[in-house]
Amino acid sequence: MPEPVAAVPTAEMLRGLGISPGRAAGRVYRMAGPPLLPSPVPVTDPVAEVARAVLGLETVAEELAQRAAKAADPAARDILEAQAMIAADPMLRESVDEQVRAGLDAAHAIDTACAHHRQMLLSAGGYFAERASDLDDIRNRAVAAALGLPMPGVPSPGHPFILTAEDLAPADTVNLDPGVVLALVTEKGGPTSHTAILARALGLPAVVACHGATGIADGTWASVDGDTGEVGAGIGEEAAGEIQRRALAERDRLGEASGPGRTADGHPVKLLLNIGSVADLQAGVAAEGVGLFRTEFLFLDRRTAPTHEEQTSAYAAVLRAFPGAQVVLRTLDAGTDKPLPFLGLADEINPALGVRGLRVARRQPDVLDAQLDAIAEAAAASDASPWVMAPMVTTPGEAADFARRARSRGLANVGAMVEVPAAALHARRLLDEVDFLSIGTNDLSQYTFAADRQHGDLADLLDSWQPALLYLIAQCAEAGRAVGKPVGVCGEAAADPLLATVLVGLGVTSLSMSARSVPAVRDALARHSIAQCRHNAELALAARDPDEARRAVREGW
Ligand code: PEP
Ligand code: MG
Repeated sequence: MPEPVAAVPTAEMLRGLGISPGRAAGRVYRMAGPPLLPSPVPVTDPVAEVARAVLGLETVAEELAQRAAKAADPAARDILEAQAMIAADPMLRESVDEQVRAGLDAAHAIDTACAHHRQMLLSAGGYFAERASDLDDIRNRAVAAALGLPMPGVPSPGHPFILTAEDLAPADTVNLDPGVVLALVTEKGGPTSHTAILARALGLPAVVACHGATGIADGTWASVDGDTGEVGAGIGEEAAGEIQRRALAERDRLGEASGPGRTADGHPVKLLLNIGSVADLQAGVAAEGVGLFRTEFLFLDRRTAPTHEEQTSAYAAVLRAFPGAQVVLRTLDAGTDKPLPFLGLADEINPALGVRGLRVARRQPDVLDAQLDAIAEAAAASDASPWVMAPMVTTPGEAADFARRARSRGLANVGAMVEVPAAALHARRLLDEVDFLSIGTNDLSQYTFAADRQHGDLADLLDSWQPALLYLIAQCAEAGRAVGKPVGVCGEAAADPLLATVLVGLGVTSLSMSARSVPAVRDALARHSIAQCRHNAELALAARDPDEARRAVREGW
């Protein structure tokens, strides 16, 4: 059990939903949003106005160059250097100059010049088109500088800090440095949003749907509890230091355990990793393989389709890292918050209910076939036998079609994700077509509770402890047990240590999660026998709501 932390005198306790476990304490800094353009002002002194606009661009170029110089990661350094060069581009300055001479004030001149520049990069295509989105960031920063507003984006106070924000896009989260950011707290966001997933991957305690978080003044000492969702603001430096010390000690304790996942009495439960690329494996966490390789994470923002060679080498790199182990590649899961621009999918009124996941193959079967070809070649090149599965499988017919395409390429372990209630209800029929099921509890919650997974106001419905969700998981696990095929969980539910005991009690055979979640889940399983896990499952299924389920199981911990 974690060492209990003494109650701390808090000036104010805010509550949200804990979505990435662990505790942290430190000073809070807020991420400012993009500046709003005020109404245009008439220009009386064009020379001074040009100087103000150019100074805005220079400030940004300098700041980016400084960040590049400090970046430890070479990839991050290259990106920042490229951005600094764009901000310092003489053509951009000339364009700003022209806009001011045409009558625009500094902020509007920067805005218009950046829009033109962006269009030029897009028209140039290829590498240049991929840099176009960098201009949005440069535009926001330069406009803020010209208007004297706080810089948008992640603050850099020069010491570790707790980041608060209205919301965080996956692109913001993925670049956070876990050595500097202690925890995340957002006003919006749901427990299964991809931002939450990335926070877990970084091992950062995180709380979402926390009203009032962005009202905490910069520099305030605060604590964050990613399990309970509590954020204590104004706790003072001493209390913060003590919480941080204990949090680090607990992390060290959990990190010492290794070996395969098993309950206290030896019932095996495979502990697998959720990854977005081979880079996620560098943490060196002892896991038994990969349970979910989100291949689409490799190609977010791409405007041109990845080539066969690119795909083959990315997949082979992961297969080589786990010789002889289970490695599950999920085919591209485009849609909603994971747009893959190269697919050119039409905008939809209800994108979560539209053409996403495996459904893209209805219109573009060649994309799926090309990916399966690349996986088959990567398997041959790395002498591995990967597992492949499709996202958003809804009917046994879809599972059969996917299995046929995969098997015709020599891929032997073919599975389906269970993310749609129809698939869970027909788990047994799906297992007639495929070799394994992997339950994506994030989407399964979204579709079972008819609640957008990114919607902060509906976060309670998306709670992984919802008994109706657990009931569907139980149906899938029972179907797997009946035919002797594996049924795992790869959604975020698997990363909750206490819930992991419930899932194992329901009959799930593997749990897949981000590397940083593995130690706590391994520890929780090692403290429960399979009989206790089954008892926990009964308690949770019988509860009326998530809080009652959590309480009932926690009491026996
Ligand atoms: C899920 O839906 O639970 C899942 C694992 O897939 P993703 O989170 O990538 O949609
Ligand atoms: Mg999903």
